[in-house]
Amino acid sequence: MEIFEKVRPIRAFLGRYVNNSIGLVPTMGALHNGHLQLIKESKKENDLTIATVYVNPTQFNNTSDLDKYPRSIEKDIELLASEGCDVLFSPSNHEMYPKPSLLKMDFGQLDKMLEGEFRPGHFSGVGLVVSKLFNIIQPTKAYFGQKDFQQYKVLCKLVEELDFNINLECVPTLREEDGLAMSSRNQRLDAPMRAKAIVFYKALLRAKKLLLEGASMQLVRQDIKHFCEAESGVKLEYIELATRENLILTDNVNDANNLVLLIAGFVGEVRLIDNIFLS
Ligand code: AMP
Repeated sequence: MEIFEKVRPIRAFLGRYVNNSIGLVPTMGALHNGHLQLIKESKKENDLTIATVYVNPTQFNNTSDLDKYPRSIEKDIELLASEGCDVLFSPSNHEMYPKPSLLKMDFGQLDKMLEGEFRPGHFSGVGLVVSKLFNIIQPTKAYFGQKDFQQYKVLCKLVEELDFNINLECVPTLREEDGLAMSSRNQRLDAPMRAKAIVFYKALLRAKKLLLEGASMQLVRQDIKHFCEAESGVKLEYIELATRENLILTDNVNDANNLVLLIAGFVGEVRLIDNIFLS
């Protein structure tokens, strides 16, 4: 696997691959099998697969969350190499932001709700760093996880509005055996917290069942808040229903095939998110 930390050398290297398809898998590292699933998808569909490992400061609205974000670059390199990833780009902050960035991105309602409401500025930072990676790598396709479904929708908007000639793929969420969505943040859970973290996936399944049996979304919100918070140390931030196409919040369950249920909350001070499609 070729490893680059600087923009100029990776651009020079990629000059040799102008006639090849390139799959890009952007990550923040501390890799797990969920990330590797994206690498596998890219390898199936492209001549060259490039992973990036970069903990992007502009998408963190909380400095303690940024400081505590798990980092394990040596292990990441081993995992990527063993998966057959061709190239790793892992730039420094100075390489990505030689000067403080002035650019802000506004995705309208899409970045004001759900994650955007609880993490102000988050999607502006995501849009900025992904745009930079798209310009540096110029991939044919880029791979993102359903686990961050709102992020995927924001990035679809980015590609549409800025005419990036890149296809975005949304890869289903990989889960642990008990159903917990794999996440780098799970590394911050000790054994009792890990046991509690499964409550969010259980809550999604419970909410789905209630809704399909005819319960209203108002009732489901109350039920799920109680269901989660009866487990001490777990705090629900939101459970919401939205359209899969445009991520518009709704309480109307009629068109179940086109709806997604999204949840976020804290186990101790670790914030976790998850979602499932309703049908
Ligand atoms: P992150 O390193 O958390 O920024 O994630 C990098 C990419 O991996 C994002 O597109 C995530 O949505 C995706 N991802 C994270 N966890 C999972 C998972 N459990 N299953 C599938 N994709 C995932």
